[in-house]
Amino acid sequence: MVLADLGKRINNAVTNAISNEQTDYETTVQSMLKEIATALLENDVNIRLVSRLRENIKNTLLSNANVNAKFTNAQTKKLIQKTVFDELCNLVDCEVTSPFQPKKRQSNVIMFVGLQGSGKTTSCTKLAVYYSKRGYKVGLVCADTFRAGAFDQLKQNAIKAKIPFYGSYTEPNPVKVAKDGVDKFKKEKFEIIIVDTSGRHQQEDSLFQEMVEISQAVKPKQTIMVLDASIGQAAEHQSKAFKESADFGSIILTKMDGHARGGGAISAVASTNTPIIFIGTGEHIHDFEKFSPKSFVSKLLGIGDIESLMERFQTVSDQDDAKNTLENIQQGKFTLLDFKNQMQTIMKMGPLSNIANMIPGMGNMLNQFSEEETSKKMKTMVYIFDSMTKKELESDGRIFIDEPSRLVRVAKGSGTTVFDIEMLLMQQQMMARMAQTTKQMGGLPTKGGMPP
Ligand code: GDP
Repeated sequence: MVLADLGKRINNAVTNAISNEQTDYETTVQSMLKEIATALLENDVNIRLVSRLRENIKNTLLSNANVNAKFTNAQTKKLIQKTVFDELCNLVDCEVTSPFQPKKRQSNVIMFVGLQGSGKTTSCTKLAVYYSKRGYKVGLVCADTFRAGAFDQLKQNAIKAKIPFYGSYTEPNPVKVAKDGVDKFKKEKFEIIIVDTSGRHQQEDSLFQEMVEISQAVKPKQTIMVLDASIGQAAEHQSKAFKESADFGSIILTKMDGHARGGGAISAVASTNTPIIFIGTGEHIHDFEKFSPKSFVSKLLGIGDIESLMERFQTVSDQDDAKNTLENIQQGKFTLLDFKNQMQTIMKMGPLSNIANMIPGMGNMLNQFSEEETSKKMKTMVYIFDSMTKKELESDGRIFIDEPSRLVRVAKGSGTTVFDIEMLLMQQQMMARMAQTTKQMGGLPTKGGMPP
C-alpha cells in the first residue's frame, strides 16, 4: 500500500524508543520524534503539519507527570504508542468521517469532481455499488463530454455492476447532459443519483467554470473530490483550487494500492479541512474501503484492521447468503454450502494481499506464500463445491462417510483427487466445531461488540 514504507519507519522509531532502556527519557523521545519527522517529510507530508505533530507528541510525552523516567514501565510504553497513534489519527481526521447518509425515498444527487485520470469514473461506480448493496436505488450519470470514450467507460462499468446509467453520444453540453440525467432518474424515483463530471489533465478555468455550472444545475447534496494518492506535493495545491470553486464536502483517495509516496494526500486533507470518506485500493469494483482514521493508522502501523474487513465482507457478500450463514452459525451449524459461500466471498474481495493487511499479523505471514498459489487452491475448492449435489452442499459433510463412492465421483467431476476432497471436508469440520463453540458461548457478537 502507499505509505507502507512510512508505516514501517514510524513503527520502527516507536519500537526502538520503547525498547531503549539505556538513554534517558527525553533524549529517547527526541530521537524518536526526529525519525518520525524525517519519515513523514520524505513521504511528502507538509512541513507545517510535521512540525505540529512533532510539537504535540513532544508536549504530551514530556509534560506528562505520570510518566516514569524508566522505560521498563509498561505504562510509559503504552503512552508513547498511544500518543503517536492519536497524533497520526489527528493528521487525517477532519471530525466528520462517515460517508454521506442519504435519506431514503427522496432523490439525493452526489457530484464527483477531480482531475482526469484520478480515478473519478471508477470511484463513481464503486460508490454506486456501495449504496446499492445497502438497499438504495442508485443511478449513474456521465456528464463528461470532454474526454472521448468517457461515456463508454462509465457504461461498461455500470453494466458490469448492474447499475442503471445515463449519458449521451451526441449532446456536447455537459450541463445539459447532467441535468437531463438527473431529471430522468428523479422522475423514476431513484434515491441516489451520482454525477460524473469531466476532468482535465491540469487545473483550468474552463474546468472550474463547467463544474460550477453543473453544480448549479443539479444541486448536489454532496460533492466529492477524487484525489490520486500518488501525486505527492501537488495534492495540496490541487485540493485548494478545487475547494475554492467546487467546495467539495469529502474526498475519495484512490490508488492507495500503489507504491508511490502518499503523504501529499494527507497534507491535502489537512489543508482543506475535509474528510476522506473512502479509499480506492485497486481497479476492481470492490477495491473500495470506508475510511476511518483509526483503521488507516492501524494499518499504517501494521496493527490490522478488522473494521474494514467486516465492511468489505458486507459489500461483496450476497446479503441472503451471508444472512443464512450467520443464522447457521448462531445455531452452531456450518454446512458445506456455508463454506462455499464464504470462499466465494473471500475470492470476490480482491487480491488476497489487500485482505491480509486487514487481519492482525496476516500481512507479514502472506509474504511467505505466493498469492497465485493460494488463489489457485481456493479456486480448486470452488470446483469441488460445484461438483456436489444440493443435498450434499446443505449437509454437514458427514454424508460422505456413508457414501464413499460419491467422493470418487466428486473428485472426477472437479478434476481433483479424493485426498483434495477429504482435506476440504476436514477444514469444513473444523469450522463446524468453531460454530458449535460460538453457539455455546452465546452466539456471535453484535456490531457494537466487534473488536475496535
Ligand atoms: P478518471 O479519468 O478520473 O475518470 O479516471 P478513471 O476512473 O478512468 O481511472 C484512471 C485509471 O486509474 C484507470 O485505469 C483505473 O482503472 C485506475 N484506477 C482507479 N482507481 C484506482 C485505484 O484505487 N487503484 C488502482 N491501482 N487503479 C485505479
